[in-house]
Amino acid sequence: MKVMVIDDDLLLSDTLKDIIAARGNQVKTFTNAEEAIDEYQKKFYSLVLIDIGLPGMDGLECCRTIRNFSKGKYSVLIIFTGLTHLESLRESLTAGADDYLKKPFDLETLKIRLEIAEKLGLDRMERMLADEELKRAKRKAESATLARNNFLANVTHELRTPLNGILGYTQLLKRDGSMLPKQLHAIETIHECGEHLLTMINDVLDFSSIESQKFYINPQIFNFSILLKSIISIFRMKTLQKGFPFHCEIDDNLPVKVIGDEKRLRQILLNLLSNAVKYTINGHVIFRVKNKNNAILFEVEDTGIGISEDDIEKIFLPFHQVQDDRIQNEGAGLGLSITRTIIRMMGSDIIVQTRLGEGTIFKFQLELPEANEDNLLQEEEKEHKITGYHGPVKKVLVAEDIDKSRTFIREILEPMGFAVKEAINGKEAIRKAYSFIPDLILMDLVMPVMEGIEATKKIRSIPTLKHTKIIAVSANISHDIQQECFKAGCDDYITKPVQISELIELIQEHLDLSWISQAHTSVDDKHLLKTDVEQPPVIYPPYDEIEKMNKLVLSGKTTRLKAQIKKIDEHYPQCETFVKKVRQLLYEFRLEEIQLLIDQRKEKNTHDMF
Ligand code: ADP
Repeated sequence: MKVMVIDDDLLLSDTLKDIIAARGNQVKTFTNAEEAIDEYQKKFYSLVLIDIGLPGMDGLECCRTIRNFSKGKYSVLIIFTGLTHLESLRESLTAGADDYLKKPFDLETLKIRLEIAEKLGLDRMERMLADEELKRAKRKAESATLARNNFLANVTHELRTPLNGILGYTQLLKRDGSMLPKQLHAIETIHECGEHLLTMINDVLDFSSIESQKFYINPQIFNFSILLKSIISIFRMKTLQKGFPFHCEIDDNLPVKVIGDEKRLRQILLNLLSNAVKYTINGHVIFRVKNKNNAILFEVEDTGIGISEDDIEKIFLPFHQVQDDRIQNEGAGLGLSITRTIIRMMGSDIIVQTRLGEGTIFKFQLELPEANEDNLLQEEEKEHKITGYHGPVKKVLVAEDIDKSRTFIREILEPMGFAVKEAINGKEAIRKAYSFIPDLILMDLVMPVMEGIEATKKIRSIPTLKHTKIIAVSANISHDIQQECFKAGCDDYITKPVQISELIELIQEHLDLSWISQAHTSVDDKHLLKTDVEQPPVIYPPYDEIEKMNKLVLSGKTTRLKAQIKKIDEHYPQCETFVKKVRQLLYEFRLEEIQLLIDQRKEKNTHDMF
């Protein structure tokens, strides 16, 4: 092994060198601590013998310095001294020495002490090698995890983008009142399959976030009763399709608004109830929510296939599925593992009671403190189809590179009375924001030319846009990205696929709107619509553009009509109100009314037009 002797007494250090070298070690001598430390930093020495009385830095300080290096803990350090008082022994051991020798040396004692030091040195050397190996393996594993997480984030982004289009349009079509029952059923099936795919993608992503410890619980005020209502209505439908009853036993005195992580609670309940429905062939499913000593108890009971005792613990392991010929196992086996992790992160645990062939009960209890500030009525209003809002027209810029996603948002917002402009990358978003001065920008994060975060930072430095709200839109929902968005200047964050209700809620919050909804459009509301909303005057586009539109309407070429409207929008920004009106009519397929508008224009004199 490699040994270092530090002593300014050349005669003694040479003697020591000879004795240690004769035992098969490589020995190097130094006359001062500074040079020795310099050498130690470059190379590792298993055994270091240090005299206390050295010129410059003394032996105790030298011992402390070596011990404090990261590799210092693997060396055997022996201090030797001519001092006889006990205090120097204490000081040596406190400085990190493993042994303490008194000069002059007794040869036999020295040999025994060297023998023990060599053994200890070999042990530590082995430990050092093992630790290094471990560190290497950990680094390798970390870089593999990083690569896998990056891969997963990219793949899920790629998968979510087309899903965004599918789910977006099925949502829109489901709201469209003109569908035949057969078509509606087909749309609902597409929507369900898309939702299923999304759950799988989200599960994989959640699982990877849990593994890399980037999974967080984000408590906020939310409407608990609306959450329960929406969950119940989903499972009423699902159980109806499967042909067995869904009983709900919900306490009357549950809080309306609570503080908790709504998204995660929804995820837990969807998983447990989906499983209950999936693993029940006949009988029933019961959903219980009870107020219990400042906590809320959730229970999902089914009369399904049950779980054997051997499998009870295993079902919570990732990817574990129990095979049963009667059930087509569609999931990835991640749901329960994620569910238990979330419940545990919320400070509770999940309990299973089950009998093979008879059924299962999953239950858990959560503390969801009541929140009182807002009133329930406002929340309920959101449930109705929104047809407008009180006050002046609000402008929204949609920055999104994918055509379908952009159009989807436009088609939601325009019928609600928003003036919408589009940008296909961050750079264009900045340019359009300058002239359009939007009240709100929906900023996709991943775009070509300039990404959303950079564009947000630039927009935040433009004084005229200081009141513009920016909501980031992205398929990648990691906590880090959210933080990055807020740092760049975003006011909020919405994940893809965009849920219409969530988008509406965010817009209401940030633009401080009060909605006019179909179900609530009272005489007063209608009056307000007419008087309160500052309707800008309609400016028509030039005659030849109107003529082109006319031909397209008469021949029913809606796709080309759409393109023509887009062209008018881009070339004649002053015709914004006209474009908005035609777009809304086209969205509702009211071609005759577009024709009427065109005829009106044709009848008018040119002076009040373009
Ligand atoms: P998945 O349902 O995607 O397979 P989960 O993690 O949600 O994954 O469930 C893991 C396994 O636990 C399932 O494959 C099934 O074997 C079992 N399981 C879960 N819920 C029930 C239930 N209510 N009744 C019977 N078995 C269940």
